[in-house]
Amino acid sequence: MSLDTANPFAAPSTLPYQLTPWRSVRPEHYLPAVEAGIAERLAELRAIAEDDAPPTVINVIDAWERSGQLLGRALGAFWTVQPADTTDELDAIDAAISPMMARLGDAIYQDAALYARVVALNERVEAGEVDADEAARYWLETHLRDFVRAGVGLPAADQAQLRELNARLAELTSAFGRTALAGSNAAAVEVTDEAELTGVSDATRAAARAAAQGRGLDGWLFELDSCTPQGVLSEASDRGLRQRVHTAAISRGWSGEHDTRTLLVEIARLRAERAGLLGFPHHAEYVAADACAKTSEAVRAMLGRLVPAAVRNARAEASELAELQDQELEPWDWEFLAEKVKAQRYSFDSGLLRPYLELERVLHEGVFEAATALYGVTFAERGDLPGYNDDVRVFEVFDGDGSGVGLFVADFYTRAGKQGGAWMNNIVDQNHLLGQLPVVVNNLNIAKPPAGTATLLSWEEVNTMFHEFGHALHGLLSDVRYSSQSGANTPRDFVEFPSQVNEMWALDAGLLRRYAVHHSTGEPLPAAWIENLRAAEVFNQGWATTEMLGASLLDQAWHTTPLDELPAVPDEVEAFERAALAAAGVDYPLAPTRYRSTYFKHIFEGGYAAAYYSYLWSEVLDADTGAWFLANGGLTRENGQRYRDLLLARGGSVDVMDSYRDFRGADPDISHLLKRRGLNE
Ligand SMILES: [Zn+2]
Repeated sequence: MSLDTANPFAAPSTLPYQLTPWRSVRPEHYLPAVEAGIAERLAELRAIAEDDAPPTVINVIDAWERSGQLLGRALGAFWTVQPADTTDELDAIDAAISPMMARLGDAIYQDAALYARVVALNERVEAGEVDADEAARYWLETHLRDFVRAGVGLPAADQAQLRELNARLAELTSAFGRTALAGSNAAAVEVTDEAELTGVSDATRAAARAAAQGRGLDGWLFELDSCTPQGVLSEASDRGLRQRVHTAAISRGWSGEHDTRTLLVEIARLRAERAGLLGFPHHAEYVAADACAKTSEAVRAMLGRLVPAAVRNARAEASELAELQDQELEPWDWEFLAEKVKAQRYSFDSGLLRPYLELERVLHEGVFEAATALYGVTFAERGDLPGYNDDVRVFEVFDGDGSGVGLFVADFYTRAGKQGGAWMNNIVDQNHLLGQLPVVVNNLNIAKPPAGTATLLSWEEVNTMFHEFGHALHGLLSDVRYSSQSGANTPRDFVEFPSQVNEMWALDAGLLRRYAVHHSTGEPLPAAWIENLRAAEVFNQGWATTEMLGASLLDQAWHTTPLDELPAVPDEVEAFERAALAAAGVDYPLAPTRYRSTYFKHIFEGGYAAAYYSYLWSEVLDADTGAWFLANGGLTRENGQRYRDLLLARGGSVDVMDSYRDFRGADPDISHLLKRRGLNE
C-alpha cells in the first residue's frame, strides 16, 4: 500500500524541527497515512527478522529504531490534535486507529522470528562478540521483556485470544473516553438567575458566560472539570448552586445516554482475563512489574502508609470547617469553607491573587525564566510557525551556546472539543540516530477571557503551567540515541517526577518577585503574600491526600480483584466502588474520591490503569529531590546542570532508578513527602 505523495505525511516535514505542516493537513489525510505507516513499519521489521547477516546493534536495534517514521509523523500529529481540538470526524478516526494500533503491537511483539533475532543479538552481546553501549544493552533488556509480556512464548491459540482481547480493549477504552467526555459536556450546569452567582469571581463568571454563549444559551454555563472537585465550588456562596455542581460532577456516567458502566465493567474483566493468560495474578501485577514499583505489593505498602494519617488529618480539617456554618457539613461545602479558612489564616485570597498572575508574565518571567536559570536555555516565539488552531503558539528553544534545542508548542485555552485536564505530548522525539530534535506540546484548560483582556490565572493554574512544562523539559532536554528511549518515555510511576519537581519553582521567592506582578499597576505581589503562599502549601492536605488516595486505591481495586469477584453487570459497579473504598480505609464521604469509576478516564481510557498510584509514587521522588535542591542553594545553574545531565538528558536510556541514584547519591526517602503533606506520625 503506497501513500499518495500529496498526503502531507508522505515525506518528512520541511518546517523547522519537522513541525507538522498543519496548514496542509486535513482530517482525511490521517487514516491513509496511518494505514500506509503500519504497512511500512511491518515490512521494515520483517526485513530485520529475515536478515541473514549475524545480528549487530546496527542491523537490529538501529534498524528497528529507524522503522515506522511515516507512522510516527502521522500519529504524532493526530494524537496532538485529537485530544486538543477534536471533531466528530476526528473522533471517528480515533475509533478506527485505536484497534489498529493494538493489532500492530501484537503483530510486532508476538512475532517469533523477530523475537529470535533480538534474542540472538542479546546472546552475542553477552558473549562479548558484539559491542553494545549501556543504552543498547538497556534497549535489549526492555524489548525482550516487552516480547515476553506480549505473549511471544504462548501457544498459538492463546496468542490468538490475546490479540482478540487487545483489539477489543482498544475499542472499549476509546469508547469510554468518548462517552465520558460527551457525558461531562452534557452535565455542564446552567444558571439563569444571576443571584445564584454570589461570590463567583469575575473571571469565572466571564468564562461561564462565554461557555453559555458558545452553546447558544442565555445566562451562565459551568463546564465541569474532569475530576470530582470543581473550581467554582471554592467561590460560590450559594449552597444550592454548589450542591448542583457537585452532584452533576459525581453523577456523570451512572445512567442515561452517557452511562459508562457497561464499558468499564467489560474493560476491567478483560484486563483480568488477559493478566491470567500472561501468567500474572492480576492486571496490577502486570503493570507494576514493568514500573519502578516492581510489585503491586510495594504499591499497596506505599499507599497504605499514607492512608491513616491522611484520613485522620482530613477529619481534623472537617471539624474546623464545621464550625463555620450552622448546617451540617456536606462535600459541596468543603472547598468553599476551606477557602475561607485559608483566607483568614494566611490572608490568602484567590480572587486578590489573580490580577498578579497574568499569563504572559507567568510564562516568560516564571516558567521560562526558571528553565533559563537552571538549564541555561532561552525561548523565542515563532509567530511564523503554524499551529492546528489559532490559539496555538510555537516557541523555539535555544541552548546556552545559541544552538537550537527544539520547539515548544503551547495550547493554553479551553475550548469545546478539548479534553479536560492538562497534558504534554511529543510531536517529534529527540534522537541522535536520525538527528531529530524534539517538538513538544503542552495543553492546559484555561478559560479564555474576552478578546483584548488579560488572561489572569488562579494559583492552581500557575502550578499546572509549571507542572506541564516540567514534562516538556523532560522531552526538550533529552540527549539520547534512540527515540524510544527519549525524554518522557520512562515508566509511568517515574514520568510525573520531573513535572512535579518543576512545580517547586512556582514558589521560588526570587522568581515570584519577577512573574507575580499586578497586570495593570505593575506592582509586585506583596512580600507578605509570598510568605503566605508558601505557608498555605501545607493547608488542607488531609483532604487533598485522601481524595488522591481514594482514586489510587479504587484503581488498584479494579485491577487486583479476581475475575470471578469483579462486577459482571452495570448495577454492581456502585457497590463495588463503595466496598473498595471502605476496604482501603478511604471511605470518608467529605473527601470523595478524586475520580469515581464512571469518569475515571485515566484508568479506563488512558494509560494509567493500575497506575494512578504513580502520581504519589513520583511525588516521593519529587519531595526527596526538592529537599536536595533546597539544601544545595535552590535555583542555580549548577544544580540545574546536574539534574539535567544525570536525569533529564538520559530519559529512558537507562533504568531510571539508576539515574535517580546517580543524581541523588541515595535511594529516595519517603519522609520528605510525609512532611510536605503534614502526614508525619
Ligand atoms: Zn503530569
